[in-house]
Amino acid sequence: MRVAIDTQPGGADPNEDWVAGTPTLAVVLDGLSTAGLDTGCRHGVPWYVANLGSQLVAALADVRAPLSAGLAYALEQVAALHPECDLRNPGTPSATVAILRERDDSLDHLVLADSPIVLEGTNGFTVLTDLRVDKVLPELRAEVEQHETHTTEHREALRRLVTAQRQTRNTPTGYWVAASDAEAAAHALVGTTPSRDVRAAAVLSDGASRLVTEYGMATWSEVFSTLRNGGPQELISSVRKVEATDPTGRRWPRYKSGDDAAVAFCQW
Ligand SMILES: [Zn+2]
Repeated sequence: MRVAIDTQPGGADPNEDWVAGTPTLAVVLDGLSTAGLDTGCRHGVPWYVANLGSQLVAALADVRAPLSAGLAYALEQVAALHPECDLRNPGTPSATVAILRERDDSLDHLVLADSPIVLEGTNGFTVLTDLRVDKVLPELRAEVEQHETHTTEHREALRRLVTAQRQTRNTPTGYWVAASDAEAAAHALVGTTPSRDVRAAAVLSDGASRLVTEYGMATWSEVFSTLRNGGPQELISSVRKVEATDPTGRRWPRYKSGDDAAVAFCQW
């Protein structure tokens, strides 16, 4: 497997996405927004995703390890790196996880929350994703989307949403993300696809996939053409060009004008 990667922050703040590619693995993590609220952690989201990603790559070096077991192990390792922080704080740093792994003649995948893996097959595209996060708190989400970005009303609505999300995150009635408790790994969606059915694959944070799913400004076929011709960097720059036409989120209501974006493009 050949993996090409890139990641870019969506604005002036530090990048909270993380991406890695090895000859057998493609990993994308998307750190969840803290909306400036307390996290109980002095390290921050960029530190969290960098350490979780590194631990995942180490845990999955043995291709026989099940992906969810590798994720559980990596979560424990990262929690052990900062015992002085309040890991029970509901705002503890957290992230979505998307992993694609080549093993023998198969491709294993794991998704936890909404960073999708898109497989280009001989008969079209398959999107592997976990949209449970979209099903909770619809009223508060709608409230955020009523306001243009950069307004006080938008910022306050986002804080209300994030505060409420923290109460439902990693609970049986809510949605699951990687955070301080290894139990989340058992709730990831996993599966295996025969390699012969897949021509290429893209592992994306939603900051990149939104070009298709939110903005509707490209098809998956066009995304894969861009990836083949210009690589991950070109795909992220096309997302930014689209966002620049709607800087305050009037046409496409969203949490920020540009979200951090991460891309791993896998070819054989
Ligand atoms: Zn910490």
